Amino acid sequence: MRNDFETFFQLTKEKLENECQTTVDDCTASDVYYAIASIVKNDLIGDWSKTENETNNKSAKKVCYLSMEFLVGRLIENNLINRGVLNIAKETIQELGFEPEEVFMQEPDAALGNGGLGRLAACFLDSLASLRYPACGYGIRYRYGLFQQRIIQGEQIELPDYWLEQRYPWEERKFEEAVSVHFGGTVRTSTHEDGKLQFDYEHTDEVLAVPYDIPITGFDNEFVNTLRLYSAETPSPLGDPVTCEDVAYYHELGHEHDITQISGYLYPDDSSYEGKRLRLKQQYFLVSASLQNMLRSFKENSQRTLNEFHESFAIQINDTHPSLAIPELMRLLMDQERLSWDEAWKITTQTFAYTNHTTLQEALETWPKEMLESLLPRIYMIIDEINERFCQSLWFDYPELREKIPELAIIADDQVKMAHLALVGSFSVNGVARLHTNILKEQEMKTFYTLFPDRFNNKTNGITHRRWLLQINPSLSSLITDAIGPKWIHEPQALIQLLRYANDAPFLQQMDEVKRENKRLLSEYIYQETGMTVDENSIFDVHVKRLHEYKRQLLNVFHILHLYNELKENPQLDVTPRTFIFGAKAAPNYYLAKEIIKFINVVASIINNDPDVRDKLKVIFLENYNVSVAERIIPATDLSEQISTAGKEASGTGNMKMMMNGAVTIGTLDGANIEIRDLVGDENIFIFGLRAEEVQAYHNNGGYMARDLYNTDPRIKRILDQMHNGTFGREERAFKDLYYNLLYHNDPYFVLKDFDAYIETHELVERAYRNRGEWTQMNVANIAYSGKFSSDRTIQEYASQIWKLKPLL
Ligand SMILES: *Cc1c(COP(=O)(O)O)cnc(C)c1O
Repeated sequence: MRNDFETFFQLTKEKLENECQTTVDDCTASDVYYAIASIVKNDLIGDWSKTENETNNKSAKKVCYLSMEFLVGRLIENNLINRGVLNIAKETIQELGFEPEEVFMQEPDAALGNGGLGRLAACFLDSLASLRYPACGYGIRYRYGLFQQRIIQGEQIELPDYWLEQRYPWEERKFEEAVSVHFGGTVRTSTHEDGKLQFDYEHTDEVLAVPYDIPITGFDNEFVNTLRLYSAETPSPLGDPVTCEDVAYYHELGHEHDITQISGYLYPDDSSYEGKRLRLKQQYFLVSASLQNMLRSFKENSQRTLNEFHESFAIQINDTHPSLAIPELMRLLMDQERLSWDEAWKITTQTFAYTNHTTLQEALETWPKEMLESLLPRIYMIIDEINERFCQSLWFDYPELREKIPELAIIADDQVKMAHLALVGSFSVNGVARLHTNILKEQEMKTFYTLFPDRFNNKTNGITHRRWLLQINPSLSSLITDAIGPKWIHEPQALIQLLRYANDAPFLQQMDEVKRENKRLLSEYIYQETGMTVDENSIFDVHVKRLHEYKRQLLNVFHILHLYNELKENPQLDVTPRTFIFGAKAAPNYYLAKEIIKFINVVASIINNDPDVRDKLKVIFLENYNVSVAERIIPATDLSEQISTAGKEASGTGNMKMMMNGAVTIGTLDGANIEIRDLVGDENIFIFGLRAEEVQAYHNNGGYMARDLYNTDPRIKRILDQMHNGTFGREERAFKDLYYNLLYHNDPYFVLKDFDAYIETHELVERAYRNRGEWTQMNVANIAYSGKFSSDRTIQEYASQIWKLKPLL
């Protein structure tokens, strides 16, 4: 193609004519999108197979990242940047009479994930390719991604996200690499001719796992990895031989429907777990297909013997969701490859590494024993055996732990504990920020830590600075490059050089202008989406992330109400205008989270329509928060709300994205906020509230009475009373369940407890914001120190410390 406009334009013209059956005069934005995506795809296809061939030829080790979620968002702009043709593509689009934005928006936002965990997987793939590490992401090609959120009369309405309605130009169906996955049936044991036991499966339901491959391009390096997403299909023909009874049988049971349901939709829940048999099917479907694929590739391409499988593959499991991969690899190695238990176990435990993402009790996955046993009888037998051997080794090797065996066991009380399976079957377990890893070691997994101290390690999360700075904030990126040169694009730690400009008045002035321009762009979007106008000189105070009680959107609303009440009492009060921006989806069956969404929207409509305050306060709820919406909001953020109850947010990555775009954080000492604070120093961040140890101490020993705060702090009393006395328009006692949760369930997330510190800290924010020079210096410091939070750093740590992986040079 390449790097000249004429050629690119010509190619686009040909694509429009030959593939879209249109012309440069008649084409739509959608035609232009397909034409350009197709050019990029053709351009990378050679590098894609070259990457795979080189990996195989050099017997290079590969990491396989197993995840039930990949929150990739749109790929078009990312790929244009990586392949070095963004500018000529934009020129071409303009020449055709369109805005680049409008054309890029034609791509569906691939929302195959809920939030941070899924987005982490996507950022990791980006860094792996950009750093030339051989890697493959394995996931599910859900026909419906995370629901689309509409807000109607203040309430969240969920609509299906049929993202594949139009053709998805990045994927390649690889039917020839489809594999069968079996469910149910019975296991028959006999003696094999080799003298070992043989396990045959009878009357199983067979599902075909058909891979769809998406290229993952590296930045400026001709390296292209694969994201392989499996789709569940009916084996065709329906078994062999096909009798009329077979056909009738399938129809009668709605068999085809059942099968395609497996890749039907993404479970819209990332922190509390629903006990659904279908979810279990999805998990096994993913891991079985991926492992069969790895084994097949190993046998085709590797000179190594199976005992050296772990020299060819490291498998990272993203939370416990894919942890059935452990018994599945055992099954394949024993039943198919005829290895002994000990041989198979040795290989397995040298291959798997597990990432823990949460300490919230309700998110710890367990499956009813009967469900696992009936759906996956052979897998259950293997888990049972792993458990037996584990408990036996505890009994004999750790007599001091004997009374702890029931609590450490993988199967107990007729439940199978996936975290325990993952811990026992992996050689590494990592938390995702320093505090989180320490909580795992010292509290949640304390006994496992004494058993396997060498397994535990920390890998603080990261985000790809190429998407979250270079792509989404081009004006800031050029300002940075003008100041310190382009090195930071390959080596994000070089951002630290910006500190040289911390006192450079003209530079600070430019920074300020960039932020102002980004705020103007977001204001336009807000107007377009909501019809609301916002004050571009106000503080853009942003709280975007999934809605969860522990993330404490409610605390933010209480601050807003506090300001509102103050202003109503004293309209002359000299406050800096604020625009509060929220974006959040609530899991559809999470009642209190949906109530909080309603509450935010009710408060928004009262405040936005009150002439006494509307020049000073605005509350905007942007619906359908997803990667594309995040990309618009983050460059315009002044203040980043990271206010989770300390100890609950494992890491957070939203905090990193905002910091990298110059926002200043107001936050608790939780997750990666702590590491942000350590770098930028107390003078460049606003920290408040209970520490994790204090929260833990209240949990253990009591001593916190929410009602006392209600009785003693008139600000709190006023707000809580307003919640349900009809002030906010809805019928009386409207938000009574939120109210009861705070007062009768004693405020489980310490919203009231942290209220005073939060209000006070916001006053400091306001004072700091008024001094523009100092505020902009804080912006610069935040960007300068954000290099550590590039997922390049995270991936280099995983590669060298866990995977023992080398870049393919
Ligand atoms: C980064 C990101 C998240 C994670 O945000 P947190 O603030 O870390 O919870 C969730 N959703 C989307 C769309 C994201 O881009």
